[in-house]
Amino acid sequence: MEPLKTTRVKVTSSIILSVFVVGSFLVALIAAPLLERYFQIQAGLRGKDTLQLTVAGLTGALHRYEPLPSLIAEKAILVELLNAPDNEALVEAVNEDLRLAAFRLKASDIYIMDVTGTTIATSNYKKELSFLGRNFAYRPYFTQALEGGTGRFFALGSTSGERGYFFGAPIEDGARIIGVVALKFTVDSFEEAWRSADHQIIVSDLNGVVFMASQPDWHFKTLRPLSRTDMLEIETNRQYPKDQLMPLVNTMSPLDDGLDTVQITDAGTTTNYVSSSIYLANAAWNVRILVPTTRARTQMLAALLILVLAIMLIGLAFAFYIQRRARLLERLETQQAAQEQLETRVAERTADLNRTNEQLLEEVSERKAAENRLRRTQAELVQAGKLAALGQMSAALSHEFNQPLAAVKSYADNAVKLLDIGRTDETRENVTRISEMADRMASISKHLRNFARRPGEKTRPVVLTQIINDSRALVQPRLKSANASLEFAIPDKDIQVLGGHIRLQQVIVNLFTNALDAMKDQAHPVIDMTLEDQETHCTLTVRDHGPGVLEGEFEKIFDPFYTTKQPGEGMGLGLSISYNIIKDFGGDLRVTNHPDGGAVFELTLRKVTEDQPAQTTKELETAAK
Ligand code: ADP
Repeated sequence: MEPLKTTRVKVTSSIILSVFVVGSFLVALIAAPLLERYFQIQAGLRGKDTLQLTVAGLTGALHRYEPLPSLIAEKAILVELLNAPDNEALVEAVNEDLRLAAFRLKASDIYIMDVTGTTIATSNYKKELSFLGRNFAYRPYFTQALEGGTGRFFALGSTSGERGYFFGAPIEDGARIIGVVALKFTVDSFEEAWRSADHQIIVSDLNGVVFMASQPDWHFKTLRPLSRTDMLEIETNRQYPKDQLMPLVNTMSPLDDGLDTVQITDAGTTTNYVSSSIYLANAAWNVRILVPTTRARTQMLAALLILVLAIMLIGLAFAFYIQRRARLLERLETQQAAQEQLETRVAERTADLNRTNEQLLEEVSERKAAENRLRRTQAELVQAGKLAALGQMSAALSHEFNQPLAAVKSYADNAVKLLDIGRTDETRENVTRISEMADRMASISKHLRNFARRPGEKTRPVVLTQIINDSRALVQPRLKSANASLEFAIPDKDIQVLGGHIRLQQVIVNLFTNALDAMKDQAHPVIDMTLEDQETHCTLTVRDHGPGVLEGEFEKIFDPFYTTKQPGEGMGLGLSISYNIIKDFGGDLRVTNHPDGGAVFELTLRKVTEDQPAQTTKELETAAK
């Protein structure tokens, strides 16, 4: 069950992960072109800004140089020169003038042409490739200036071989144009500045001929095929070297507002660019910036990677969450099962306990019943023990009764005879004796009746000294018949103990009769009795002078039915009953043998501590009536 669940969780997690992997792949597929386009547009927009700056630099230069020829044309010396071209001193002066002006104005060349287009003075007069004597009538800037306008033209210098922009202005003598001043500036410095950047700048003319480019190889390349007329015109103007006019293979497609993607194949390698362009109307130039798309592609790939990683991460987190959840559910299920099992077990145990409890209750009630039965049996035994004691005493008792009865008979007979002879005094004496005898018999009978009574169950304060006296009275006939004496100094004050009057009397009587039994062979048996009064207890000691208890039998003599006496003489119950009675009172009954011979029974009883009235012999008699 467990491994199956775990496998299921693992499978679910794997499926989720796979879904996320496939999903991220699909997202990457969809997002790649969008992201690439986005980054291309961003690159294009940045390019646009750069282009603005580039164009600003170019137009700044054009604006700066444009008015200069007209200003120079104002110089009077030029008119003078044109009117006297052969004046060498003048030519020299103008040449030097122009050289200084070109130097100050940072122009490449400044030169003066007559109406035929022949250069008569120039700033580069000292240089090897001086323009002096050269004719530029074919250049449009010359023809335009000669017509009275400001001429402008871009071309490869036919003498210098340097690309330059030419401005031309007419030199007027009154209303007549007598010559043309031309100013040329080179564009190499611009290109140098462009080269440091990672983008390309190309400047093309209306015919699509690239005449400025950050990439020098592209000079004079054509962006589109030239028409025959265009070719003819270029040839006439000697604007560009004809043999260098090669196509620059390119395709262009629109990307976004004002942005295009351009693909250029040059020298066997194809490069993609994002491009934008600005048209300079006054120069008729098209300035274009080409930003390579490699950076946009790298950015796109990085973004794509982040996207895929993010998706994978979410997938991982999701799988982890699912796995955790499944584990949690699994644990909950296990816990629930365990709880159910526990509950079942608890219910079973409770049922078991209930059954045991019922059994215990049954047992308790059985025990109680047994205890009650035992108590009853014990009470019966006590009673039986007493009756047995009475039985044992019956011989002595019958003697005790017979003797006074015989005396009564003889006194009565005598009284009759004395009455007949009229001896009344003696008759009275005899009758008085009869009455005394009757009293004595009544006293014995009273003790017997009390003793034979069923004892009460309760343990209560009783007067021990009284009980000792009552017991003594009870065994008195036996003592007398056995010629025995009981040595006991009765204390002056009453001692109260916890017990029951009749039961305690029974114990003491039993100790007396056992002592007498043990000394039955002696002519004059003596029982020594002492009463020791302690703080919480008092101890009554009964000692005889018989053979003592048999060695090793000390414990046994308190067992029921243990007797060494002849059948009919003893049942072996007396000491057992006595022991139980004393234990019930919270006291103790022990036996030892005296070193000088004879058994010593020690009866310890608890004294009454609280102030409670003790049951007296009188109360007992009243209760018996
Ligand atoms: P019974 O007197 O009926 O035998 P008891 O329980 O009173 O029953 O006494 C049990 C036994 O203990 C007696 O048989 C006797 O052997 C012994 N015994 C009791 N008292 C004495 C005593 N004072 N001296 C010697 N042995 C005694």
